[in-house]
Amino acid sequence: MTAARTIEACLRDVERPVRTILERCLEGVELPWEDAVALCGARGPALHALSLTADALRALQAGDRVGYVVNRNINFTNACVKACKFCAFARGHRSEEAYFLGEDEVVRRALEAQSLGATEVCVQAGLAPGVDGRVYVRLCRAIKAAAPALHIHAFSPEEVKYGAGLAGVSIAAYLEELRDAGLGSLPGTSAEVLDDDVRRRIAPGRITTAEWIDVVRTAHALGLPTTSTLMYGHIETDAQRMRHLDLLRSIQKSTGGFTEFVPLSFVHHESPMHRKGLLEGLRPGPTGNEVIALYAIARLMLGATFRNIQVSWVKEGARQAQWLLACGANDLGGTLMNESISTAAGAGHGQFMAPSTLRRMIRDAGRTPVQRGTRYEALREFGPVETSDEARDALDALADPDGAFGSYELLTRDDRFRFHLKRAPRDA
Ligand code: SF4
Repeated sequence: MTAARTIEACLRDVERPVRTILERCLEGVELPWEDAVALCGARGPALHALSLTADALRALQAGDRVGYVVNRNINFTNACVKACKFCAFARGHRSEEAYFLGEDEVVRRALEAQSLGATEVCVQAGLAPGVDGRVYVRLCRAIKAAAPALHIHAFSPEEVKYGAGLAGVSIAAYLEELRDAGLGSLPGTSAEVLDDDVRRRIAPGRITTAEWIDVVRTAHALGLPTTSTLMYGHIETDAQRMRHLDLLRSIQKSTGGFTEFVPLSFVHHESPMHRKGLLEGLRPGPTGNEVIALYAIARLMLGATFRNIQVSWVKEGARQAQWLLACGANDLGGTLMNESISTAAGAGHGQFMAPSTLRRMIRDAGRTPVQRGTRYEALREFGPVETSDEARDALDALADPDGAFGSYELLTRDDRFRFHLKRAPRDA
């Protein structure tokens, strides 16, 4: 049976309102967020039909190739002046577990990653107290000086706002400084749900929706692309999720600066708002069905303008991540090497995925792997079947990745990197 006939057959079992919405999507009609809300509760045949529709649109919009990037995360400090209720990663500056990696250590990690084939470092961290506003600029300069070919993907809108505030300059001026120091793109994290009511409840004092949009739009205008994210499965409603996607779509239509959309399941285990029972009605992350529906809806709403819907294997685990490739996704993210934020929250899916493992997952899903750069440019093409002459990456040859990269837990106990307020880096 062809894909079109499979969808047609599946749609016959779906009730009229949902069926009509999906048929319109297949005809290329833009999905309004109000209609998307009706898809959020899809289960059984409706969920199958939704997934098949998303998969068909994925094939049209992004083809059969699935990308991955060889990168390393460097979460250089967990010391933070804020106390977002969902965040299990941050520590107050007096905590025995607060750490700070100085420039030398960040550069060492970047060079090590490059020697193992990485093309990107992803640098994000807490908002350390006591630093000066140029701390992020100096980090970019140091990485770029040591490893000019590495793409620096760094600093959430919240960090950009923090740095600009400390430096006493506008967001635009600060982003220009970062760009001139070697920044290549920004993660679109700190978005959570772009709805100020939700934000006030889960992270009072965090960057507002308007400020997040301002940083992202300004970055795009300066030629700095960003990713985009949604953290879901906590207190938000279906309507708030869908309005978030609609907002991202409207920004993308005007700037074209988003490289991809990455849904991020809320990991509840160690989250303060779960452990301490801080919020009434808090859910322990999305269910499996909700995750599938969200990815599929993201393809329906964003695929035409974003093209790339990325799966976070750190949040979903390898098995669910692979299945999501059949529900609208066309990218598996990065090798990571280190991961602290989801690990601290109790995600439990590890911090490293070897390139050969990513390729195996992709091929096993019936798709073709491609190693890509941060801007989704193809760097290495692979065939649909593994060949004997397929070069093994240096990363694949690592006997003990955990030993080589270290863990978040060890980092919080390593006296060499203990955070001291008085020794927080400041401009001389
Ligand atoms: S989410 Fe970011 S800003 Fe909020 S407490 Fe955690 S590290 Fe700090």
